[in-house]
Amino acid sequence: SSARLSGLGTTIFAEMSALALRTGAVNLGQGFPDTDGPAEVIEVAVDALRGGRNQYAPGTGVPELRHAIAAHQKRFYGVDVDPDTEVGVTTGATEAIASALLGLIDPGDEVIVLEPYYDSYVAVIQMAGGVRRPVTLRAPDFRLPIDELRAAVSPQTTAILLNSPHNPTGTVLRREELDAIAAVAVEHDLVVISDEVYEHLTFDGIPHIPITTLPGMAERTLTISSGGKSFSFTGWKIGWATGPASLVQAMIGAKQFLTYTSGSPLQPAIAHALGADDAYFDTFHSRLQAQRDQLCDGLAEIGFEVYVPEGTYFATTDIRPLGFDDGVEFCRTLPGLAGVVAIPHQVFYDDVAAGRPLVRWAFCKQPAVIEQALERLQVLA
Ligand code: PMP
Ligand code: GLN
Repeated sequence: SSARLSGLGTTIFAEMSALALRTGAVNLGQGFPDTDGPAEVIEVAVDALRGGRNQYAPGTGVPELRHAIAAHQKRFYGVDVDPDTEVGVTTGATEAIASALLGLIDPGDEVIVLEPYYDSYVAVIQMAGGVRRPVTLRAPDFRLPIDELRAAVSPQTTAILLNSPHNPTGTVLRREELDAIAAVAVEHDLVVISDEVYEHLTFDGIPHIPITTLPGMAERTLTISSGGKSFSFTGWKIGWATGPASLVQAMIGAKQFLTYTSGSPLQPAIAHALGADDAYFDTFHSRLQAQRDQLCDGLAEIGFEVYVPEGTYFATTDIRPLGFDDGVEFCRTLPGLAGVVAIPHQVFYDDVAAGRPLVRWAFCKQPAVIEQALERLQVLA
């Protein structure tokens, strides 16, 4: 394979899901829900499939989805985007991230990322010829070290790739943290690519604040999200980006030669989903919050040190109180030991020592499944 792929290996999510299948372990690794999203959304997709919407969509997405995305940004955040020039539909948030980086980064450019980072960020920065500059969120509270962010900027820095709510730590960036990031971005004239796929999964009343809403940010922020997380259709791979036309156009400029367009019949269905009433979103995050509490309480009882997340699908633990110290080794042996799969943080760090004892567990699973995993994990207690 090419030098572009050097050192990237196989994504941890594929490795761990394959391990779960092979061993029959309960999969609390890869973050996907084990129940489908709303039945009426599926019906819209079925109607679109039967109704002949099976040829290429426009390159930036079908009009009703672009309009629904714009309406969603207005409804939840008061943000105005033009559905014709400031919205681009992609094959999942993953493609939005990849096309944004390929469309905006030149070889040698430095991109600041929060560490632990979502693994595709590292791969795509490398494929684009860029250089990552990680800023580490550290246990126990995983807050943004603002001085380290400032120190990470160099004359080569062109972009900050943000993620809040943050996978895997569950941190939701607060107003003060976002203000500090915005100040750095404005001072150094940086583009911010903001991955907000967990925008509807914050807990305990903590608000999700899109950084594009801060002063001076709308003109430099590309905001990315996905129907997978908000509506439990991760396999549909319908994502999008919104922002100034110049940034959306740069992203679409790369996307057009990667996939050209994204799945036509699923787009009207996600358009319909985005119009869900407030009760849908309230029930959605309350349900996930209850599952978070079930998992976190259970893991704490077993003896893990648990870092209760403010958002996302994931809880993080330190495994050292149970006598382990290497998360990668722990996760490789856990299916044999207890019949459960989890994800080691370590693979998401340059500073591997910071991530070594940390393990991520997904709670986007039915309560009975979480219960079964916790029962199995009792052997570690
Ligand atoms: N960003 C983050 C932080 C994620 O956790 C995920 C998880 N799937 C993605 C992007 C990718 O989203 P999609 O499935 O829509 O490509
Ligand atoms: N975002 C999910 C996770 O972090 C799924 C990742 C993937 O399969 N690429 O587990």
